[in-house]
Amino acid sequence: MQSHVRRPWLLLVLVLVGVLITVRSYNRGVSRAILAESQVAPANPPRELAAKIATDQASANANLVTWHIGSVDPRFGITEKELADCIRKATDLWEAAAGTRLFRQDEKEGFPVNLVFDERQELLLEQRKEKPHLDELAETVRQLKEYRQTTLQRFENANKELEARYKAHETAVRDYNAKVGYWNRTRDASPEVVSELDATKASLQSEAEALESQHDAVAKLRDQDSEAVQAVNRAVDALNSAAAAFNALAKPGAMTQVGVCVRSSKVEKIEVFAFQDFNSLTCTLAHEFGHALGVAHVQKTGALMNPVADAKAGEKELRLTDEDKQALQEALKKDP
Ligand SMILES: [Zn+2]
Repeated sequence: MQSHVRRPWLLLVLVLVGVLITVRSYNRGVSRAILAESQVAPANPPRELAAKIATDQASANANLVTWHIGSVDPRFGITEKELADCIRKATDLWEAAAGTRLFRQDEKEGFPVNLVFDERQELLLEQRKEKPHLDELAETVRQLKEYRQTTLQRFENANKELEARYKAHETAVRDYNAKVGYWNRTRDASPEVVSELDATKASLQSEAEALESQHDAVAKLRDQDSEAVQAVNRAVDALNSAAAAFNALAKPGAMTQVGVCVRSSKVEKIEVFAFQDFNSLTCTLAHEFGHALGVAHVQKTGALMNPVADAKAGEKELRLTDEDKQALQEALKKDP
């Protein structure tokens, strides 16, 4: 029995589940020549030749890994045709790497491919339902953070301006006081000097009043900024608790078995228990059909035959790594 497990979505802690591997290899070595020969047979071959062709065809077929659509639980929301399309994409991948035909679809022979619905897919569907809500909360956080940047900028600019104005005012007051001190000591101020000093004093007083109201305006900007910070924090809290609830749907750290290929003398079947979308389904199918060929697990990260599926496999291009191809060559070399 060969299993395929996937990382739980969004969870970072991983616990590996040990998987028992017992593989019986298949007879292989189907050459294109045999198939070609039977395909180019004359329209009305002599009985003997027809029989030989039929035998060749049968023995060629016998070497192919045969599959058929088994039971498909309707709760997966996938038609048998869509499943068959995914299977063909998965098997094409191996055939392209082998450079020969390896699989055959049948009405009822060979591996049944079953989609078995249980709490694993239920969980994925639940998560899929929750995802837009999470995205919405994350977008709210992003917008509020952006807005907070503008309130911070506004406050900082105004505050800088206010500080400069305070400094200039302080300098002017110092100058004024120095002048007043000087004329008090000399007791020799002309009426022009006195009226100039009075004018300066009045202007300093009105500047002090202006500074007061500018200070109030800056304080208002600071309040707006701290309100914006609080709004960001509230939104982050909401996002965090929603994400925690989302993650709690899956057992933290637990691995989910998403597929299995059973090969024994009694039972032969491929089953898939959970998938996000057609791409991740195709990925799991390609893994299990690899086992159907007798391909063993590959420990290299990113390999299709790695026992732990990439949680984001569905977003990547379906491909075999060099290690997968090596494992395929080894499986094809084996005798039955
Ligand atoms: Zn596996």
